[in-house]
Amino acid sequence: MELIREPHEAALWTALNRRKGLSIGFVPTMGALHEGHLELIHKARKECDRVCCSIFVNPLQFNDPEDLAKYPIRTAEDKALLESAGCQALFIPLKEELFKGFTPSQYDLGGIDSHWEGPSRPGHFQGVANVVERLFHYVRPDRAYFGAKDRQQLTILQHLQAKQRWPVTIVECPTVREPDGLAMSSRNLRLAKHEREAAPILFRALGKMASLAFTTSVEGCIEAGQGILAQETLLDLDYLGIADAGNLEPISEWGDRRQAVVLVAAHFGEVRLIDNLTLKRA
Ligand code: AMP
Repeated sequence: MELIREPHEAALWTALNRRKGLSIGFVPTMGALHEGHLELIHKARKECDRVCCSIFVNPLQFNDPEDLAKYPIRTAEDKALLESAGCQALFIPLKEELFKGFTPSQYDLGGIDSHWEGPSRPGHFQGVANVVERLFHYVRPDRAYFGAKDRQQLTILQHLQAKQRWPVTIVECPTVREPDGLAMSSRNLRLAKHEREAAPILFRALGKMASLAFTTSVEGCIEAGQGILAQETLLDLDYLGIADAGNLEPISEWGDRRQAVVLVAAHFGEVRLIDNLTLKRA
């Protein structure tokens, strides 16, 4: 696996491969890789000739400096995992180089940032949009892979790709879960043992809501989820709601939708976890 530090070398790597007629898949991450990230790599490997993964803990998307400072860094382990997953290039840009001569843009996010993560994390999605644009600018992939785990991020990037005409296909990858249902996340490493044991309640609540969706009212469905989450005293609920699957606007009626999304965020001690599930009409 090739290790790339300089952004222009990433562009060169892509250019050399493309000259050989090879397609490029790209998996942007913040490191501390787990099976969820590796699924993105596997999918990219299946669909593209060459795969590049980036590790960049993007300061622009952290509104809490403590969260940034505590973000796990495990580069040696990450490299080994990527090697064994068959990733061909690892791009770890230096912050100064990635943003050299660059003034962050204020993107029109189509209001998709108005709810859910948006209000709790001001500026977060602008930070994500800016770093993804910079990474795309250098890596120039044909296809870029993002997890449904970060549903709102994925929806915003799909919106931006269409609006800004980014010349890349955004590929959605399903959320990978632990056997007990907890969505894999680098943040899970920070949960204390008793918090880790309690955390799968998020998925239990989402599962219950999925079983009631479209047969119970939206309000009744949310109440059922809240009822489950209220049983866990370690959990401090930030939000639980149901949204339109296309624009993530909160909904109060199912209408004639075939699909909707339930989104949840909750603190377990100092660790904030998010999850979501697509609700489908039977
Ligand atoms: P992160 O390193 O947390 O920024 O995540 C990098 C990419 O991996 C993002 O597209 C995430 O949505 C995706 N990802 C993280 N956790 C999971 C998971 N459990 N299942 C699927 N994709 C994931």
